[in-house]
Amino acid sequence: MRAFQLVRAQEPPELREVPVPEPGPGQVLVKIGGAGACHSDLHIMENPSPGGGTRLPFSLGHENAGWVETPGPGVSGFAPGDPVMVYGAWGCGVCVNCREGRENYCQEGMHQGGGLSGYDGGMAEYLLVPAARFLVPLGDLDPREAAPLSDAGLTSYHAVKRSLHLLGPGSTAVVIGAGGLGQMAIQFLRALSAATTVVAVDSAAGKLETARRMGADEVLLAGDQAVTRIKDMTRQQGAELVLDMVGVDATLRTAAQVARTLGHVTIVGIGGGALPVNFLSPPHECSVASPYWGYIPELMEVITLARQGKVTMLVEHFPLDRAAEAYRLLHEGKIKGRAVITPHG
Ligand code: NAD
Ligand code: ZN
Ligand code: ZN
Repeated sequence: MRAFQLVRAQEPPELREVPVPEPGPGQVLVKIGGAGACHSDLHIMENPSPGGGTRLPFSLGHENAGWVETPGPGVSGFAPGDPVMVYGAWGCGVCVNCREGRENYCQEGMHQGGGLSGYDGGMAEYLLVPAARFLVPLGDLDPREAAPLSDAGLTSYHAVKRSLHLLGPGSTAVVIGAGGLGQMAIQFLRALSAATTVVAVDSAAGKLETARRMGADEVLLAGDQAVTRIKDMTRQQGAELVLDMVGVDATLRTAAQVARTLGHVTIVGIGGGALPVNFLSPPHECSVASPYWGYIPELMEVITLARQGKVTMLVEHFPLDRAAEAYRLLHEGKIKGRAVITPHG
């Protein structure tokens, strides 16, 4: 089969011919419908030792959905042809966090799934999923459209949900970076907290138009005026929740400036910036958190919201032989929502 693989650090990935994997006991072979191109892959490609230097080559693609091709020996509950979402953070399954479905925080430190390090991801015709517990039924959703829900969807859902108690009537939530993750965050805020004013901030005007369509009440170009406007909108108090989906110095600084006392600054973007923290900034008792991905039950909730039509990912499809082009466009900021690689068309 064909697979889009990172072969050498800091060199462009390559489309290669590799064997179709054989599912062992408890494992499941999935025929890939869609594999989303996440901005994290660009960070991985730029990293001198991708995936902590564990193993190269590996197939990219940690945002996957498809159809069960072959359940391995002993697998029950899934049959060939079933449409499935792949939960991407593959933990040990035994520690307490894994048993609670929080495999992204596996205590054995195994929270790197296929396409990130050590294991092959879904930018290939087939994906070997190491355990059936990582599969979630998709129902009537099309895997080619739904794939990004497993990361862009789940990560932003988790980031919103952990702060929902702050988002009462009259509250404000700011989403900095309205790309793949940010657009989903806006929709989750809309769906889960109708009384919250949602503000999107981005450095690209086109992304702000999309943010508006996704339900943002106010859209602002990144910069000092955005900070002033958000302060004015909130009677100088600032926002209850600020989600930074970029994570560079400039956006982190903005996040601290527009958050309020007792608020949350949530750093989701892996832009490599740092946020100075002292007695005065961020504001008093404002919590700063850096969540990684989300929980398996939350992925089921995301799928429910998508099946109800309350959230949709804006998807552009690319065949496997155009995966390099999809990443180039992502790097240039030219993907409107999410690029999804569709190995079977
Ligand atoms: P994306 O490229 O689709 O979107 C990024 C958006 O940020 C774009 O709209 C871009 O115009 C905007 N942007 C860039 N620089 C900006 C700036 N200085 N000010 C304002 N806006 C700016 O990326 P994505 O796939 O949505 O990923 C976003 C980030 O989240 C990446 O850093 C990615 O690695 C990270 N990520 C983190 C997790 C996690 O678990 N924490 C999971 C997935 C992705
Ligand atoms: Zn990702
Ligand atoms: Zn574990």
